[in-house]
Amino acid sequence: MRDGFGREITYLRMSVTELCNLRCRYCMPAEGVCKRRHEEMLTQEEMLRAVGVAATLGMHKLRITGGEPLVKKNILAICEGAAMTPGIEEICLTTNGALLPRLAKPLKAAGVNRLNISLDTLDADRYAWMTRVGSLDDALKGIEAALEAGFARVKINAVLIGGFNDDEIRPLARLSERWPVDVRFIELMPMAEVAAFGPEAFIPCGRVVEALPELEPIAESDGVARLYRLPGGQGSIGLISPLSAHFCGRCNRLRLTADGRVKPCLHSPREYPLKGLDAEGMRRQFLAACTAKPERHPLLSYESRSGANRSMNRIGG
Ligand code: SAM
Ligand code: SF4
Repeated sequence: MRDGFGREITYLRMSVTELCNLRCRYCMPAEGVCKRRHEEMLTQEEMLRAVGVAATLGMHKLRITGGEPLVKKNILAICEGAAMTPGIEEICLTTNGALLPRLAKPLKAAGVNRLNISLDTLDADRYAWMTRVGSLDDALKGIEAALEAGFARVKINAVLIGGFNDDEIRPLARLSERWPVDVRFIELMPMAEVAAFGPEAFIPCGRVVEALPELEPIAESDGVARLYRLPGGQGSIGLISPLSAHFCGRCNRLRLTADGRVKPCLHSPREYPLKGLDAEGMRRQFLAACTAKPERHPLLSYESRSGANRSMNRIGG
């Protein structure tokens, strides 16, 4: 399936819940989200129908996200069903890691191929402050559980935030020496909840290269990240720069929210509902969303906010 700008759409990011066990300040309101009525959200059957339709349209890679996907009671059944869907070649899951000690092995058994674990700081007090309710120890135990369960090429995602963790670039990057993990630094995006952050919070990923002059560029690319390696590192260091060097030209994805909206672009309010539809209806909505993919989103900055009409936990990051 190609969009109007010739980009082949091969990647579906599906959010399975808006709920989360953390309350990260850049993602969610302090009070969490109002639990929506059951009837408003996609059922497991609808999620799997949508995955099946997406696969027939050429979306062979699936990312399961949220909110926190591991708080979803039937997460293992969803992963299992997705893994058995003809045409789905790879299933990745993005998590804050806190529930991985219990779930890493079952997720592997359910057919999840890869995990991304979010970790913005290695300082316990900062972690507790940013997540409002989380514990650094739980996140670190989650990474260890993922590695023990046999997940290969685990990615650690760190959102780079000026005045919060820009002095931790080296220790975060060195996780790729301690463990066989890839570390990704991601620029903070000006979404709804980020309104409370000042302009100093928005720093370009170029800071990582300044802080780590020994980084060696790697020719291979994984789509949206510029890749490097620390000499002696087991995994790579990636820079994802939605603000300073956006990657719309290579965008290959559609998003499906937990309440059943297909989003052509993370930063656009356009949505194509497929709740309650049969496979043919869903197919039409995916095609409409693909056709509506904009060439690029407007440049984002502290002054120029994302056009998304939802906070990140309600889109699926
Ligand atoms: N709860 C899971 C987690 O934290 O990994 C999955 C959902 S979360 C919305 C997915 C990713 O989006 C996380 O890595 C998080 O740090 C990132 N994220 C959330 N808000 C963001 C923002 N305003 N700018 C950049 N990344 C953001
Ligand atoms: Fe939850 Fe992930 Fe958002 Fe943090 S970034 S509040 S862990 S959904």
